[in-house]
Amino acid sequence: MDSTSPETTSGVLSTTHINPFEEMASRFDKAAELLGLDPGMRKVLREPIKELKVSIPVVMDDGRIEVFIGYRVHHSVVRGPAKGGIRFDAGVSLDEVRALASWMTWKCAVMNIPFGGGKGGVICDPRKLSRGELERITRRYTSEIMDLLGPEKDVPAPDVGTDSQTMAWLMDTYSMHVRHTVTSIVTGKPISIGGSRGRVEATGRGVMLAGREAARVHGLPLEGARVVVQGFGNVGSISAKMFASQGSRIIAVSDVNGAIQNPDGLDVAALFTYMQKSRTVVGFPGSTPLDPAQLLTTECDILVPAALENQITHENADQIRTKIIVEGANGPTTAAADEILQKMGVVVIPDIYANGGGVTVSYFEWVQDRMGFFWREDEVNQRLEELMVQSFADVREMAEARNVSYRIAAYMVAIQRVANDLQLRGLYA
Ligand code: NAD
Repeated sequence: MDSTSPETTSGVLSTTHINPFEEMASRFDKAAELLGLDPGMRKVLREPIKELKVSIPVVMDDGRIEVFIGYRVHHSVVRGPAKGGIRFDAGVSLDEVRALASWMTWKCAVMNIPFGGGKGGVICDPRKLSRGELERITRRYTSEIMDLLGPEKDVPAPDVGTDSQTMAWLMDTYSMHVRHTVTSIVTGKPISIGGSRGRVEATGRGVMLAGREAARVHGLPLEGARVVVQGFGNVGSISAKMFASQGSRIIAVSDVNGAIQNPDGLDVAALFTYMQKSRTVVGFPGSTPLDPAQLLTTECDILVPAALENQITHENADQIRTKIIVEGANGPTTAAADEILQKMGVVVIPDIYANGGGVTVSYFEWVQDRMGFFWREDEVNQRLEELMVQSFADVREMAEARNVSYRIAAYMVAIQRVANDLQLRGLYA
């Protein structure tokens, strides 16, 4: 339900009352209805197939024992192993993980890669934990969800609050349990231990390619386009860098600590250097502070929400002043906001396509690990571009044929693919 959304000082809305799984399900229902999906098939594909809640006892640096709660959810394994990231965040909930797992199913299907959907999360604030504490949480969490994991069963990746180091610990823990090194158990690893070239940049590169395809179709040159980015982590920062490489002007960005702007365009390369020292965009020389609450409503050509879900709601959608929204984050726009944006003529390039570059290169990483043969970065980037261009064409064709938004078209493309494969496999009884 999309109801009152108090804002935090960071400008990211506090929306714990909006259930992300219901947000996903409302789009699923609409797309399934339009496809005329068999009611039984609809029941099978709507709900996650497996949900695990684990308790993670950890000895903290001060000697205290703390217990963290973690989840791993499989939404579907019809088209291949469950694939999806692990989130470390104070706001993690089972409904959030269920939504994220479902989006992974639809995302992998839109990108036409042979994976199902899964997701995991641990309720914790990684900014308040030491490296040692994070490592112990990761290893114990991995061992608790071990039965679900496997290169043919469930292949995690980084998400909010986790990174390549987290994936290295996860791979090592799994490998110690099975008594040999299994690189293909996880993607988003450091390159020297089986990671793929281009993986760190893949989601942001894909966001730019999605934006480029949409901008081309809707007659907006990327050269000189004004871009606003919410969130300056992996996805947000690389998206900003990629749009800047196309000649776009990055006029405002934010992170959990605040927002900054420069109407002439921020120097993104210098901002990366500044971030390495300061760990925040706030205070970047060559920018002025911006009220974080104003970031999403800043006038621009392309808006990239790349932080968390439920940021564009019925409360602020009518104040959005952009031509195209490219969803770097998962679930940043509520269903109620979608309707308002559609009436306003704002083009929304949906998460399950727009941020699919990450999982696509994760697929390439898994393939390379299994082959034991690693590709050049230009090969990775070229294959990624081919799939981003093809998937946009698939989604656009559906949108035009059925006169629906890109969001509903993307769900329709995905559901059709998964339902077709389930039909072929049949139900085991
Ligand atoms: P990240 O942890 O690297 O960065 C998250 C960014 O959001 C940071 O700048 C952080 O400061 C900001 N942020 C987090 N909580 C916030 C809050 N409460 N208020 C304001 N800002 C906040 O995470 P990421 O990997 O860049 O993921 C961002 C989004 O993209 C998520 O929705 C994630 O699911 C999605 N996504 C990530 C990938 C990937 O490959 N990493 C792939 C597809 C989708």
